[in-house]
Amino acid sequence: MKTARNHSESRRIDLYPQTKTCPQCDQPFSEKYHKQRWIVKLSGELKVVSHCLGCQNPECANSEAVYRPEEENLLALKGYTFGLDVIVYIGQLRYRDNKTIEAIYNQLTKKISISLKEVALLCEVFLAKRDHSSPRRREANG
Ligand SMILES: [Zn+2]
Repeated sequence: MKTARNHSESRRIDLYPQTKTCPQCDQPFSEKYHKQRWIVKLSGELKVVSHCLGCQNPECANSEAVYRPEEENLLALKGYTFGLDVIVYIGQLRYRDNKTIEAIYNQLTKKISISLKEVALLCEVFLAKRDHSSPRRREANG
């Protein structure tokens, strides 16, 4: 899915892991690296910047560990441009409402830019993932 997209209208969100101090030595985490990706949601396109934190105390046994933002997995599957909300939406139209791929495509292109082939692919992704990807919303504490 390497379609050239116009990113000018996207919103940016920054994600951080919930753990912000080292469970081993109690030092506050600092950023090890960050990465960004584009996620197409029903509500529009998001520029998601994931900040990966870790312990920088060289004496700490935990200093190799990298803590990634948990929320990223709730937004989109690894390696996919389209958000989970898009996949669930497509899956419901296809398998609950028995709509054709083409009908779903026609409906979706009013909201987001997607190809017929991508709709077909995401139908399969929905079937493959629905049994073990019900995202559990965790309480944000801090
Ligand atoms: Zn530590």
